Amino acid sequence: MSCSGLTPLKETDIVATRFRWIATGVLAVVATSAARVEAAMNDMEPLSIHVLIQDETKIPPATLAAARTIATRIFRDVGVRIEWLDSDSALSVKALGEADRSAFWKALYTVHVVTRVTAAAPGNALGFASPGTRVSTVVYQRVEQMSRDAGTDPAVVLGHAMAHELGHLLLRRASHSAAGLMQASLDVQRSAQGRVSFTAEEAQSIRIGLANNR
Ligand SMILES: [Zn+2]
Repeated sequence: MSCSGLTPLKETDIVATRFRWIATGVLAVVATSAARVEAAMNDMEPLSIHVLIQDETKIPPATLAAARTIATRIFRDVGVRIEWLDSDSALSVKALGEADRSAFWKALYTVHVVTRVTAAAPGNALGFASPGTRVSTVVYQRVEQMSRDAGTDPAVVLGHAMAHELGHLLLRRASHSAAGLMQASLDVQRSAQGRVSFTAEEAQSIRIGLANNR
């Protein structure tokens, strides 16, 4: 873990009482984050997110269902349950009480599936996401192209693309990893075999992020 906010103490004239007070404060922070890490890594602690798919492409229902199953499995492996929503269920949130509504919005992420390339989609990316927001986009034309090229069910590519873009949002970073689901390019053959997932480090980071966000 990196922490850019920590710098070495340079002042030599800090009085002892003040130093002790600072040291106590630091210990308290360390204890709190250690407890959070332990809680977040405890498989008994349920963590979940709501994911709303806004599908402008009219994906075949069987493909969408299979893609959801794949993304559900990828997140279940890191201890996060996905509750899938469509536009109708999002609207029904209005019926919830204020506290429930607040919890709902806090856990809500959106995958916008667009038909074809837009100016915002870089290069030949399958999708894009802006960490710091709750919205990601998958370009279905590219999903179909990649699955055609690889001779694979589009659900395999779509499921992994959705999980990858959600990964950017949950990890709060735009960068890619050297291995696994968060690599810059998708290994379609390994994906089809169910062998592409978050790394252990990413899993921990996602769980801690969600636990801290509650
Ligand atoms: Zn990416």
